[in-house]
Amino acid sequence: MILHNPTGLGIRSDPGGDGHFGASRGNRKHEGLDFLCAPGQIVRAVIPGKLVSAYPYAGDVIFAGCRLWGKDFMAKMFYFIPHKHLINEDVLAGEEIGIAQDISAKYGGGMLPHLHVGLYKLNPTLLVNPEDYLDADKEQLRNGGY
Ligand SMILES: [Zn+2]
Repeated sequence: MILHNPTGLGIRSDPGGDGHFGASRGNRKHEGLDFLCAPGQIVRAVIPGKLVSAYPYAGDVIFAGCRLWGKDFMAKMFYFIPHKHLINEDVLAGEEIGIAQDISAKYGGGMLPHLHVGLYKLNPTLLVNPEDYLDADKEQLRNGGY
């Protein structure tokens, strides 16, 4: 399984936090990988699977996203508006699935706009590090290029 970069940009690191898997979030750890994005840009599917609508925050329908249910993996992708015609449809890895939002507008504090990706192995469900599945040179990603 290869994880497709959803925005074509590098991993976020800003005053609001570090985007790597396991990075500190106060008393918990970051359960995913944050890819920088330009709000309004095209977002691409990180894995193949059925696209199901999902929301990152209870009681906040402004920020949206999806779950991609593949055969062996499930990916959560947040802070973008999925294309309506793809909801409950199968998509390919790398396929255009929506438009990036600006999550920095919710938090401020120097946070950069980004897309959150959580990756789970299925049967049994197990949270994994998306970086272990990236199809990019990790050094290049750290340097913000891709
Ligand atoms: Zn995140």
